[in-house]
Amino acid sequence: MRISGTELCQDQPMASESTLRFGAQTDEVTSLLRIVNMVRTGEATTRPEIGRVTGLGRGVVTQRVDQAIEMGYLEDGEFGPSSGGRAPRTLRFRSERGRIIVCALGALHIHVGIMALDGDVQDQTHRAWDISRGPAESLDTVMEMIDELLGRNPEADVWAVTVGVPGPVDFESGRPVAPPIMPGWNGFDVRKRFEQRFEAPVWVDNDVNLLAFGERARRGVAQLDLIYVKIGSGIGAGLLSQGHVHRGANGAAGDIGHVRVRDSEEPCRCGKIGCLEAVASGWALVRDATAAVADGASGALARIMAAGDQLTPEHVSVGATDGDALAISLIQRSARVAGESIATLVNVFNPSVIVIGGAVASAGEVFLAEVRQRVYELSLPLATRDLSIVNSANDVREPLRGGAELAREQLFDVTFPRWFAGGRPTIESAHPGDV
Ligand SMILES: [Zn+2]
Repeated sequence: MRISGTELCQDQPMASESTLRFGAQTDEVTSLLRIVNMVRTGEATTRPEIGRVTGLGRGVVTQRVDQAIEMGYLEDGEFGPSSGGRAPRTLRFRSERGRIIVCALGALHIHVGIMALDGDVQDQTHRAWDISRGPAESLDTVMEMIDELLGRNPEADVWAVTVGVPGPVDFESGRPVAPPIMPGWNGFDVRKRFEQRFEAPVWVDNDVNLLAFGERARRGVAQLDLIYVKIGSGIGAGLLSQGHVHRGANGAAGDIGHVRVRDSEEPCRCGKIGCLEAVASGWALVRDATAAVADGASGALARIMAAGDQLTPEHVSVGATDGDALAISLIQRSARVAGESIATLVNVFNPSVIVIGGAVASAGEVFLAEVRQRVYELSLPLATRDLSIVNSANDVREPLRGGAELAREQLFDVTFPRWFAGGRPTIESAHPGDV
């Protein structure tokens, strides 16, 4: 782009000229970072567009974009559509500069992915694993899986790590808080373990919060009021309020698996009696299916057990989809009881979308129809007027995408001013209070 001498001169005293044109976002750094983020999110991708959206003069835009290119955040791409004159060049965010490692630990498996800064899955690996084997052994396994991925992708420069675990997490310290199904994990410094290894910022969060983040990324809508309910081995919910994850004072928000349900005396694995999980979760269904088969029930689940296989929640949901009577009755009971707890959430939180995911809910319509019926029956009419209740995309990459979305939010919306000058994020920039 050609720049006249006058424009450059106007821009020389950095702040004074742009102060007038740019309202509150006055200083050089703020506008530079805003421009990088505009290109990154696609809000504006050419210099003229950036000028229109920000109100910054052409000279300032040129100067800031040049800075961002020099620092390696942006580069010139293709020529964009012309609006009459010469077509402006589009800018692109260099999402290949850094990589995000996402470790999604479930109750019974570990999923690890290497993600680009734009959230694309670059590579991934998966293992069956029991989280109750404790943090030392579990995290050794996670590290092995990461090594396997980095071995296949030696050029990856790790900018951030996200770790999801199936229990409440104190997000500030990165430590699980009294997780009911994770013996030995209470207060364990998960973050430190990864920081030491990667010299990069690490964020630890509840696994269902990752799924809620994934849903936000998939929908591409910033201001969502959404509840993601995962009904798998365990049960939990992730809450998005105007697009922001609501974690609560101790990280326990949305942990609905251990609320008491009516008419149940079932012991829960958390030690209490009558929890939602003890009736409606995957492990409860496996328990009840096993008992029913022992009592003489026939059908698909009985055949699986007769073949010597251990029943899983997936067997029950697949059985229900295939029309097996025992599986259908178990899935419907789970959905009915879960639906009552979800109805309470709807009354309290008034979401516009409820996404139901997890192995039990993967039975699809059989499950969803029952949840819908309970929610509409038990919720206030105003709270359900514009409510949609849908199945998750049921894609195993959901937690990976969600973990990348969390890291992207932290890197570029929260901590960017603290690290951009150095060219890559640091541990201190992410957690300035405790280094
Ligand atoms: Zn419980």
